[in-house]
This record gives sequence, C-alpha cells and structure tokens, in this order.
Amino acid sequence: MEEIKSLWNKVLSKLEVQVSSVSFELWIKTIEVLEYRENKVLVLVASTTTAKNQLIKNHLKQIKETVFQVFDENTEVEIIDLVEKEQYIKIHNPANEQIFTKTEEDKNMFNLKYTFENFVVGKSNQFVYAGARAVAENPGKKFNPLFIYGGVGLGKTHLLHAIGNYIIQFYPNLKIKYVTCEKFTNDYIESMLSKKEESKIEFREKYRNLDILMVDDIQFLSKKDSTQEEFFHTFNDLYQNNKQIILSSDRPPKEIATLAQRLESRFACGLIQDIQPPDFETRIAILRKKAQQERYFIDDEVIEFIADKINTNIREMEGLLSKVHFFASLLGKKSAGIDEAKEAFKENLNTVKENLTLDSITDVVCTHFNISKTDIVGKKKSKDIVEPRMIAIYLINEILDVPLISIGKYFGGRDHTTIIHARDKITESVKNDPEIKNIISQLKMLINVS
Ligand code: ADP
Ligand code: MG
Repeated sequence: MEEIKSLWNKVLSKLEVQVSSVSFELWIKTIEVLEYRENKVLVLVASTTTAKNQLIKNHLKQIKETVFQVFDENTEVEIIDLVEKEQYIKIHNPANEQIFTKTEEDKNMFNLKYTFENFVVGKSNQFVYAGARAVAENPGKKFNPLFIYGGVGLGKTHLLHAIGNYIIQFYPNLKIKYVTCEKFTNDYIESMLSKKEESKIEFREKYRNLDILMVDDIQFLSKKDSTQEEFFHTFNDLYQNNKQIILSSDRPPKEIATLAQRLESRFACGLIQDIQPPDFETRIAILRKKAQQERYFIDDEVIEFIADKINTNIREMEGLLSKVHFFASLLGKKSAGIDEAKEAFKENLNTVKENLTLDSITDVVCTHFNISKTDIVGKKKSKDIVEPRMIAIYLINEILDVPLISIGKYFGGRDHTTIIHARDKITESVKNDPEIKNIISQLKMLINVS
C-alpha cells in the first residue's frame, strides 16, 4: 500500500500543474486511494458526492491519463464516494463476512458530532490528527497502542470518538468499545463484588473479545487496587492478539508512574502523540465551524474577541460562543455582536469565581496528583505530598480572597508563616522551573481561571 500511495503522490504532483489550484485543493487533493486491485483497477474515494461528480465531469480524463503514465497503461480508474466506499469494503474485504449485531449501547457509544470532518486541523494538532486517522484507517496494523495526551478541552475525546465513528461506518464488522477510565474501573469493581462467577467472565468477555478498545482519561487508573492489574491483563491480551488499543490522558505515559513501568516496552511500538493548545488562527477556524454547525449568526468581531480571550481550552471557548448566541437571542437579535460577547465573558468569569472554594481547588489538585484529601491537609512530609500541598496553597492564595490564617487552618492547622513559605516557594519555582510552570497553568485550566 505504501508503494501505491507514493505512486499516487506522483500522480498528484503531475495533476497539480495541470488543473486550477481551486479544483486541485477542493476535489483532487482530497481523494483517498482505497486500493489497487490485482486486475489493475485503481479505486479512488472522493471526499463527498459532489466531489465525485465534479471529478467525473471535469477531471476524469486528466486523472486517467496521468495514472496511465505513473501506474500502468492498462489501469482502470474507478471513482466512488464515501457511501459506496462502505459498500465496497463490505464486499471486497474478506474479513468482513459477518456483520455483528450491535446493542443499543454500542450504537450510541459515539457522539455523532465528533467526527474527523468536524475536527479543525492546525499546527497544534496536525500530527495527532494524522495519527488518529491512520489508526482509524488501519486498526491494529499501524500504530499500536495509540496514546494521545494533552490538556483539558483540547480535543482528545473528540478524536477518540472520530476514530469510533469512522470504524463504525467503514469497518462495521469490527468490535469496538469506548470507555472512560472511570467506567472501566466501575465495571471491574462491580464484577468483583458480584457473587456470581459469571460476572467475572462477563467482564473479561466484554473487554477482551474486541478488535478495538479505547480508554479515555487513563490518568485516573488508580494506583493501588487490582483494577490496575486487570487493565494490564486486558491490555496485554488485546495487544498480543494484534487488537488496537487507544488511550488518552492529560499527561504523557512516563508521568503516569504505574503505567510507565509496566507498559514501557509496549509503547515503543506504538505512537505517543501530544495535542497542544491551538494558535489564534485555529481557534478562529474552530469557532467558525462551531457557529456554522449550530447555525449561530455571530459577527466576525465576536469570533475574534472570543479567540483572543480564551486560548487554552476549546470546550470553554465553545461555551462562551453559545452563551453569546443565547444573549443575542434573548435580545431578539438575529446576529450576535460585541456587546453580548463582552457581557457573556464578564458573566463567565464571575460564575467561575463564585463557585470556587478552598475545597474545590484542593480537590482539583488532589485529583491531578492522584493523592487523597486526608494526605494533602495532613502531616505527611514525603515529596509526593509536600509539593502538591504547596501548589494547592499557592493556587488558593492567588485565586481566592481568603486570609492566610484561614488557609493555614484548612491545611491541618498550619501556622500562617508556613503558608507564606509555601506560597513564596512556588512563586519562585514558577519563574525558574518550566515543569512547575506547566503544572500550574494546567491546574488553572482545570479550575477554569486561566
Ligand atoms: P478533551 O477530551 O481533550 O478534554 P474534548 O475532546 O472533549 O477535549 O474537546 C472539547 C470540545 O472542543 C469538544 O466540543 C470538541 O468538539 C471541541 N474541539 C476540540 N478540538 C477541536 C478541533 N480541533 N476542532 C473542532 N472542535 C474541537
Ligand atoms: Mg476528554
């Protein structure tokens, strides 16, 4: 297939100089090569039905001629659209003999809005997009496992669902399962608590009798209990049978201590790809796409305002966009303008701040570091507790308007000088240690105050 792709790339570069750049970008560049059959039929997939019609009407002759030159003189060219592709795979892929019956749960597993088509690609996410797409097209064959990591609201879940939607459409015979780490844990605990031996078997059936398993937010894999053990067994079982595993996390595998030790060698054969916060242009493109999808009428100025104000969390950006739309509709306006945007932004900040407490901020820190509340406010002096404790103190002091004495009291009755020390220590680290700086900005994002 690699060879065919490289031949096709030659065809593309020849066509690029023959047709107008608009036609090339719109119709030709987006063609996917599905297969080059032994009887010399080259099967091409157009990105949409319109694209297919355009190609056949205006460019078929040129494409054929170029294919003759590059591939073989006797090559036949067949152009199909996405629906036909699905049929084609069903007929020609021998592995596709049986179509599994799907349960309601399976059918509703993926959010239909989270597709590759709806995912805006920019510098920050182009590699992760390409990786996800490659895995969706060649499950179990290309990168295994695929590990996607990045901050909150940057599109990890969206990409996992996009892979799922793609597989359901084009490989309907494959058994696929998407779960959050939390669901996996709950299912496992439930099966263990049950007295019936069948529930344990059922659990294994459910998670091992699969072609593709996706676990979202794997950083929540708990440290101690047997859930972790079960996850490794599941992982190894699937992996050894060449089944595709896809994981997402808010941090790289090496920062998930338990995972790194056990699965390091496995990750070497897979793809670990990060997703970065989008740049300004990509943020604008995402907002435009979202407005179009939801049929919001929003002034360009507003789109720019939102893209400027929120730069690290796409979910939050979308939230603000829909709030602006809502404000405009309350005023009976057809199109949302900058006044509504400013109002919505102000309200957003206030609600976020009003809902924050010592407890809620500490919770976010505890979850991030996977430590308990008792430990963080307790007496332990080990580094894995002391550092999160100081970070929590730093954040509370920066975000909330609470006296140092109260913060001290909350953290197990510590003296206010201890609180000052913690605050200053982290303030210093933020300046000098990029890792701490990064952790703080991630946490602020989680708390919603970035
Ligand atoms: P994460 O799982 O990383 O926290 P999500 O996948 O839930 O983030 O994404 C948050 C929201 O942002 C979703 O509504 C998603 O559709 C949207 N989103 C993220 N990245 C993109 C993108 N590149 N293009 C379009 N929408 C995006
Ligand atoms: Mg997610």
